[in-house]
Amino acid sequence: MILFVVLLVCIFGVIGFLVFRPRYEEVKTVAVTDSTDTKLTIKWNKPEKATSFCVYWKEKDEDYEKADGIKADTYTIKNLEQATQYTVCVSACYDKAESGKGTEHTFYTVASKPKITYAESEKKGQIKIKWKKNPKAHSYVVQYKEAADTKFDSNNTIDVKKSAGCQAVIKNLVEGAAYDVRVCAVTASGSAKAFGMWSKTSLSVRRVQRNLDPDKPMVALTFDDGPSYGTANDRILDTLEKYDVRATFFMIGSNVLEHPDNLKRKVSLGMELGNHTYSHTKYGESITASDIKKCSDAIKKVSGQYPTAFRSPGGMTTKTIKDECAKENMSLYMWNVDTEDWKSHSAPAIISKTLNNIEDGDIILMHEIYDATADAIKVIIPKLIKKGYQVVSCQELIEYKTGEAPKGGVEYFSAHESQ
Ligand code: ZN
Repeated sequence: MILFVVLLVCIFGVIGFLVFRPRYEEVKTVAVTDSTDTKLTIKWNKPEKATSFCVYWKEKDEDYEKADGIKADTYTIKNLEQATQYTVCVSACYDKAESGKGTEHTFYTVASKPKITYAESEKKGQIKIKWKKNPKAHSYVVQYKEAADTKFDSNNTIDVKKSAGCQAVIKNLVEGAAYDVRVCAVTASGSAKAFGMWSKTSLSVRRVQRNLDPDKPMVALTFDDGPSYGTANDRILDTLEKYDVRATFFMIGSNVLEHPDNLKRKVSLGMELGNHTYSHTKYGESITASDIKKCSDAIKKVSGQYPTAFRSPGGMTTKTIKDECAKENMSLYMWNVDTEDWKSHSAPAIISKTLNNIEDGDIILMHEIYDATADAIKVIIPKLIKKGYQVVSCQELIEYKTGEAPKGGVEYFSAHESQ
């Protein structure tokens, strides 16, 4: 009888323990909310009575590392290896007790940013880029966009096989335009592909070169005072586009903000962008550094790129102007042929002023705001081409005729005269 009672007590004791023992609810779902090449941020469901959490993680055959006392339902695991598989578990803690480790989850860090080592335009309309090899990469993806565009577009994407080495040539680009280029490594994440972190793009803005012959004659056309209302400025661009030539536009900052589409068109056609102060209301000594900087900022805001050229209203250069141009890496361009379009407003007069005075290496002054100038350009450009001239921007003129890129803060009057 006593034995029977003892047996009953034992049975009920065991049942009671099984039924009434404290239950430690486990963490069921764990998800990655952010991953970089060295970090994994995870988030989990929070069992109601849990007081804190422990996170465990390990690389494949290694021992678990642990972080405990986590009060939140999220944690960032740091100092991880790039493009690596990790096993992660989260346990719930109840005062001094801890639930089991729970389910093992598999997560991957992404590949590190490739380092671009080279980005140049070696051929007309092309950019070549090279980058450092990532030993974990299965392949790479290159993306490009015109500098003026705000976002990269998946249409402008090139897949690069591992066997191709760490390099790519991007073709069919707009000549004379500036581009941003970026690269990421593609790794395996289980059976899926994982895109790594994008390289920095600011390093790789490069001008796409044109095939120009420095031994043949060249002239630079320059247009001041735009963009503006009316159709002259767009008609000038139509003609430049038709003959596939370049020019330099010295623009007024406040006008740029009022006519952003015109500036964007100039960028897409590869025109050189010039600064002509923000308001064009001050001349010579009264022009301040901020009159210049404000115009550069307006051009950058609309087009995504800073101007490379400067011309002061009225053409007078001071030390303040030169210093600011040197600081902003803009060259100053005067002119040695004045078409006097601002005075004559006559297409025939502009045509004869230009064509009768032209020589190799000249910089020609015009304005993009007069209809007479737009009419004259239609005649001038085909005639210049027929005479064997290459019609170029100021930057191209100096670069090809002197063999050196134009310098910031230096004033050029033609390809043969600077100070
Ligand atoms: Zn002006």
